[in-house]
Amino acid sequence: MTSPQILGAPPVTRERITALMSRLTGDEKHTVAATSTLDVLQVLYGRILRVSPAAADDPDRDRFYLSKGHGPMAFYAVLAAHGFFPEDVLDTFTDFDSPLGLHPDRLLVPGVEISSGSLGHGLPLAVGAAHALRIRRSPARVIVLVGDAELDEGSCTEAIEYAGGIGLDALTLVVVDNASSSYAVRGRIEQRLRAHGWDALRVDGRDHARLEEALSRRVPGRPNAVIAQVEDKAEAAR
Ligand SMILES: [Mg+2]
Repeated sequence: MTSPQILGAPPVTRERITALMSRLTGDEKHTVAATSTLDVLQVLYGRILRVSPAAADDPDRDRFYLSKGHGPMAFYAVLAAHGFFPEDVLDTFTDFDSPLGLHPDRLLVPGVEISSGSLGHGLPLAVGAAHALRIRRSPARVIVLVGDAELDEGSCTEAIEYAGGIGLDALTLVVVDNASSSYAVRGRIEQRLRAHGWDALRVDGRDHARLEEALSRRVPGRPNAVIAQVEDKAEAAR
């Protein structure tokens, strides 16, 4: 199984993704939340994840879980760009009978692995999936994207402790950090993860080369985390 990129498809550029995002219209777009994840999603689907529409049911496919379900515009655009569903569907975003709602629905949108939006659920789900894949001796990775403030949820603390405790190296946590947590302190997230046995790196969340390098890194016997630092939410919203 290979990614669409490896099959020889033209690379999906940032301009292409933003053009597709412009087809998603309406009042409730969570634009700041959507664009904070754009570069991470582009790198994941273009260079990292072993997923494709043809292999959507392969038990050994990589899994990507968008835990930060609000602001799914970039996610929808990237999935369409990689052929998971026709681009025309983007024009129906949030219409009454559209599959593309404000939060992704795994039963309605091809390529979406979990329904999300209620914060704090994606990481525990990813830990369970990665553990199950390890038991099956699958080579698949599970990569879950959360927001920085989402890590305030108690369910995330339990998942972080458990994954570190059992050395879940099939798991990669991506934290898009726009300092939106109520008591955000830069650098605290990686300290917290390392205290529980994780490998954790902070990189520029807009630098594709650094993102690719960090997302490719896997330390045996440790769950991996990439903290992708983007513009502070308070700044970006201005
Ligand atoms: Mg945030």
